[in-house]
This record gives sequence, structure tokens and C-alpha cells, in this order.
Amino acid sequence: MQPPDMSYLTDIYFGWGRVARVSEILEKLGGKRPLVITDRGLAGLGMVERLGLGQPQVFDRLETNPTEKNARAALEAYYQNSCDSIVALGGGSPIDLAKIVGLLASHPGPLEQYAILRGGVSRISGSLPPLVAVPTTAGSGSEVGRAALLTLESGDKLGFLSPHLLPGAAVCDPELTLSMPSALTAGSGMDALAHCVEAYLSPRWNPVAEAIALDGLERGFGSIRAAVNDGRDRPAREAMLLASLEAGLAFQKGLGAVHSLSHPLGALSDRRLHHGTLNGIFLPHVLEFNYSACPEKFERLAALLGAKSGSDLPELFADLLSELGLPMRLSELGLQAEDLTPLAEKAFRDHCTPTNPRPLTVEDSLELYLKAL
Ligand SMILES: [Zn+2]
Repeated sequence: MQPPDMSYLTDIYFGWGRVARVSEILEKLGGKRPLVITDRGLAGLGMVERLGLGQPQVFDRLETNPTEKNARAALEAYYQNSCDSIVALGGGSPIDLAKIVGLLASHPGPLEQYAILRGGVSRISGSLPPLVAVPTTAGSGSEVGRAALLTLESGDKLGFLSPHLLPGAAVCDPELTLSMPSALTAGSGMDALAHCVEAYLSPRWNPVAEAIALDGLERGFGSIRAAVNDGRDRPAREAMLLASLEAGLAFQKGLGAVHSLSHPLGALSDRRLHHGTLNGIFLPHVLEFNYSACPEKFERLAALLGAKSGSDLPELFADLLSELGLPMRLSELGLQAEDLTPLAEKAFRDHCTPTNPRPLTVEDSLELYLKAL
């Protein structure tokens, strides 16, 4: 069979029509009876049929921000149908859920012991079932990420991280993103841009990841308007899927306060807030907060994106949000100050906080929440 188009962290099959190869790729990884994890909307659009897997078992009962309950229900479907592998089809939610189902299928409970903040990284071993990730949005980068986020029964949205959670293959076919509605294109696209910015600004040493983040940011920033304005713009769709993939390859370097602030909001299960849309709202405020910590990096970003100076970046991203028609304030999503106060402590404790370029306190988190309100 033809070699992968790239091999960096995992095998990546990228290009128009690549979805036709899913069955062959799954077989190469040793999977014969996959459970397809997706959401109802995508299943309704006939996306599962496009995987070319015949009549696979499908689990499509998951929330916008997946929960432990979703994971247990999917695990039951996995066992009941004697599945031996998983194909994740969709945005970040089905892909993250698929990683957790693979973890549950191969590791004893309770699940919480494997969370990053519970010291779980070293408890995850290499015995997970084969997983092929097929993104249908351009934003999460989860198809090449070693992490998964899940809201546990306790209400905490926790991160799980291990090289063993990385999908055995990512199949990125821009064709699958053509039907994405423009608001979702904009919101997911802002997630990809936030990943590139935060990975680049993370103080951890990884110049290779930084180079990928800069390339992804330039590509994504240059294409997001076109992809949002005309979903059938094929070059823009391809550029956004590649930018999202590059962002996912780069964020192994760590993320920052944009994600620390958005995770506790994403855990509010009754609100169903979109992760990328939240990140778009926080990005200008967090950039302003971080500027003093690494002004030279801000200058490089400004030069890349055509801004006059590093201190103009918050405004540049705020203008982009308004051009894309995305919400610019949390109040537009129906949030109020009393919703935010209890979340500041959670944002401070988030696993992304240690890699924010400027140390973030509980007070800073609350101030940023209120600025974004
Ligand atoms: Zn994200």
C-alpha cells in the first residue's frame, strides 16, 4: 500500500478523497470490527457511509462536550458488538470520546485516576485498541493530539494525556468539511488559531512545534474568512484542515490561559457552549494579559499576520471575530458575572495554566472572565 503522506507523531493521510482509504488503514492497524463513534448530526448526513466500512456498529449518542456517561454508554456498545477497534468521525468531541472509550476498554476503573491532574499520565499503557480518527471539522486537531478532554460525573472537565491515546492514523479529507455550516467553520477555525498562538507562546522548549504553529497560524489566518464566507471554497477548506492539523501537531508544546478559561465553561453541561467560539472570545483578552511576558514573540506574530506591532495583536483578533460574525463577549452567550465567579479557581487549576507565558492566578482568571463578559 502507498505510504502515509506524512509521518510525524502518527501516520497522517491528508488529501481530497482520502476517506476512501479508511477501511484499508484500519486493517493495517489490526482492526476488523470497528465501533464508529460520531454524533447524530453527522450520522444523519450520511457521513458514516462515506467511511466505506460496510455496515459498522455506530455510537452517536454524545453531547457537545462529551461526558463520562457518554463514554460508558459507548463502551457498552463496543463490548455488546464484540468490537476490536474504533473509528472516530467528527469534531473534537467524538474524537476525544473515542480515545476515552479505548482507554476504558483496556484499563481498569475508576476513570478519574488516569486524568492528568490526578497523576494519571504514567498509568496509561500501550494496550489500547486501534483508533483511526477522521475529522469533519477544521479546528480541534484532536486527530493528532495525545490528549482527550472529558467531563466527569463530578462535573470537572479533566484532561487525559498519553502518547498511547494518540490515534494510530489520522485521515484528513477536506471533502468531509465542505458541508460544515459557517458558524461552526468560524468557531472551529478560531480553535485552530488559538492552538497555534498558544502553542507558540508556551514557554516550553520545542522549536519544531513552534515552526509548525507559525505555519499553521499564517495559513489559518489567511484562509478562515474565505472558508466562512463560502463553504464550497475548496482551497480555503483544504487550508483550514491543514492549519487545524498543524495546530494539533504543535500543541504538544502546551496551551495557555485561553484554554484554561474556556474549559470550565465547556464543562457546564446545561449550557452546551462551543469550545472554539469561547476561545475566540478569550483570545484578545489573554493576548493583552500575556504581552508583557514575551513581547519579542508578539513582534514575530505581528510580522507574520501583517500587524504593525506586537501590541496590536489583541485588536487584530478582535477585528477578526467581528468580521467572522462570531460573538465577542460572554454575555452574548447568555452568561452573567455570577456564572463566572465560581469558575476562576477551576481555570487556575486547569492543566493548560502552567504553560501560559505569564503566570496566572485565581484573581487574574476572574479578571479575565469579567473583561470577556
Ligand atoms: Zn482547543
